[in-house]
Amino acid sequence: MTLEYDRWEPVIGLEVHLQLNTRSKAFCRCRNSYGDEPNTHVCPVCLGYPGALPVLNEAMVDAAIRLGTALGATIHTRTRFARKHYHYPDLPKGYQMTQHDTPLCTKGWLPLDLHQQRLIGIQRVHLEEDAGKSRHTENETLVDYNRCGAPLLEVVTAPDLRHPIEAERFLLQLRRLVRALDICDGDMEKGNLRCDANLSLRRAGSPRFGTRTELKNLNSMRNVRRALQYEWERQAALLETGGIVEQETRSWDESSLQTLLLRSKELLHDYRYMTEPDLGTLVVDESHIEQITAALPELPHMRARRYYYEFGIAEEQADRLAADKDLAHYFEQTCRAACPHVPVQDIVAWITGEAAAVKKEHPGAWDEHPVEPAQLGRLLQLVADRSISRSAAQTVFDMMVEKREPPETVVERLGLRQIRDASVLRSTLQDVLLSHPDKAKAYRDGKTGLRGFFIGQAMRATAGRADPILLDQLFDELVSSTGETN
Ligand code: ADP
Ligand code: MG
Ligand code: ZN
Repeated sequence: MTLEYDRWEPVIGLEVHLQLNTRSKAFCRCRNSYGDEPNTHVCPVCLGYPGALPVLNEAMVDAAIRLGTALGATIHTRTRFARKHYHYPDLPKGYQMTQHDTPLCTKGWLPLDLHQQRLIGIQRVHLEEDAGKSRHTENETLVDYNRCGAPLLEVVTAPDLRHPIEAERFLLQLRRLVRALDICDGDMEKGNLRCDANLSLRRAGSPRFGTRTELKNLNSMRNVRRALQYEWERQAALLETGGIVEQETRSWDESSLQTLLLRSKELLHDYRYMTEPDLGTLVVDESHIEQITAALPELPHMRARRYYYEFGIAEEQADRLAADKDLAHYFEQTCRAACPHVPVQDIVAWITGEAAAVKKEHPGAWDEHPVEPAQLGRLLQLVADRSISRSAAQTVFDMMVEKREPPETVVERLGLRQIRDASVLRSTLQDVLLSHPDKAKAYRDGKTGLRGFFIGQAMRATAGRADPILLDQLFDELVSSTGETN
């Protein structure tokens, strides 16, 4: 595309639905689980039988308070539910219960980076229920009501995102957060984290927003980015040729990699919102909010910040290590065992390198890693105090994975301990110098490039076990004295 679409700045806001991992549904005692036999978790409440009365699931409220607090939002102590009416086969009640005009949480923020330079505003987090699932076959549509009444949180961002990559990054951060809070699996492919994206364009620098379109059917983070990128180019092409952007809902079509018109503004639903008569006001005690706040785990973005400042490691590394709480735990345990002698940089390199590679081959969590963090820490200690060489450490590590042995045992069994006895190394060097008298003379006459040759020979003579640093120190002393005796 030759069009200069980047003269138009995208303005993006996301509406994210999180399917909560509570045991039961939002307003009844049916099991909240996905992937089961269709229509096995249903009851009069979630099927909308007349006269069946809903009871709000407190675990759902707590999850919302956890998220709201983690986002720094205001938690409102008195809120209510509304009925949002529409007709669709997967919605047997004919309406969805949702917090319409009184969301439980408002005005929060989530940082995109650990320095908190890019803070994305959160307009609201509210509670609502899910609809069922339709499955279209060639000539019929099947409905599964298991998801009817499943507890959802809707998170609405301010139009603060400025690039498709930022939108993807936001979702990644949000996913980390909900996983750390243990309220949602955060898996877009499985549909328990869903996202609609709104995008408008404006001339770079303009204070006013343009007309937005809403994008649906984005079932992976990558598709969110791709759909937004496509939409950016589509709207820019329109605007560049004097057209106007219509406010409409578009659907991402994965097979043709474009967004297609789903419905235009004229067809906007009238949801006939009304206050839910079967539920009273949701009242949350201040003390309850305080209790939940006090019990929050360390948040991934705060942990990344701490790693950056405490350990002085690079931003991306701090971010990566802090993202997953098991990995973070593994890292901290290794540090505990390896400190203070091992540079943190080496610990990070081993964990993100060798240890991560092994974990790929051994499915399971970090706390089931074949090499326990304390053992990895001790292995790195052995390298740091020069008991073994860096290359021997690799051999030892492989053995630790294979045999589940502690590093010291492997080192002794394979005889990998470095030779650090100066008298032994002196005589080794002496032998090498004496068996290459011409080269030794050339060295003393100024061909200092031969140094590597001698050290290499000495390493070879000790089967790689000589301490190279000590060898290097002894070389100067030996090369002149061996010359004198000649
Ligand atoms: P509605 O009430 O029609 O759903 P909202 O004001 O709730 O609209 O906004 C829905 C989403 O659209 C929010 O994430 C918001 O940030 C985003 N949004 C609003 N205006 C714009 C705009 N001009 N460009 C891009 N996104 C926008
Ligand atoms: Mg909205
Ligand atoms: Zn039910």
